Amino acid sequence: MPARKLDKPGEFHLAHLDPDDTGNLSRDDAERKLPGLLARIGELQELLYAAGTHALLVVLQGRDTAGKDGTLTAIAGAMNPVGTRVASFKVPTPLELAHDFLWRVHAQTPAKGEAVFFNRSHYEDVLVVRVHNFVPDALWKKRYAKINAFEELLTDSGTIVVKFCLHISKSEQEERLLEREGAAEKAWKLNPGDWEEREFWDAYTEAYDDLLSKCASERAPWFVVPADKKWARNVFVAEALIETLAPYEKIWREKLEKLGETQKAALAEFRKNK
Ligand code: AMP
Ligand code: MG
Repeated sequence: MPARKLDKPGEFHLAHLDPDDTGNLSRDDAERKLPGLLARIGELQELLYAAGTHALLVVLQGRDTAGKDGTLTAIAGAMNPVGTRVASFKVPTPLELAHDFLWRVHAQTPAKGEAVFFNRSHYEDVLVVRVHNFVPDALWKKRYAKINAFEELLTDSGTIVVKFCLHISKSEQEERLLEREGAAEKAWKLNPGDWEEREFWDAYTEAYDDLLSKCASERAPWFVVPADKKWARNVFVAEALIETLAPYEKIWREKLEKLGETQKAALAEFRKNK
């Protein structure tokens, strides 16, 4: 799979990964393959929900137009809405800004049994905040360690954490921004800020390189996903999510069996006493 899994700290550069890499996947292959992958994701999420032993946090990051919304539609859309939620992180409100940067994020983390997708996340606090000097350097520089500790707290508490960085090229971003202008059903997304942010392309690259290098761990890995081709991106994200969840399947099925036995015993008891 052309997506790169980062599961330990170490120097990484986005430049190492071609955003247009589709491996040996053709569009036809991808479109044939995706429904099966999505069905498998739905199956695993139902198990996660029913077993109630773990929570799932999927972090989605990427530049403007990288495809966060499209990925959510495809991947979160494959899950049962009962037990699935999306939390989108926008420019912080005055109340949010009056707290530490993790306050609003922690409040949105999944409970056991739940799957939550973060559309942007605490990583904005070492991205846009860093690029635009919203806080002094000394403050954002200390955040990588805090993010790692926060994610360790989550994984220690039974949350499966997986993070996706959707990697697009500068030329693909331009195409997508122009497409928004041309398509009536996409124009609502137009935002002059996106063109403005584009001027900070290299500063964002540096910020991404840093967080990917510093905030990767075995239990909260990053997948950097070539995202210039939407059809390939969906397959790569789906495959990575299945890879993340599949090791838990056995535990969840065993738990369900036990829960089933308990419920059957309770029913038998009920009937006996009738
Ligand atoms: P969108 O995802 O297109 O709806 O845009 C949300 C905007 O909120 C983006 O421009 C983000 O950079 C911005 N944003 C998200 N989190 C933060 C943050 N912690 N500080 C400042 N801006 C943020
Ligand atoms: Mg936007």
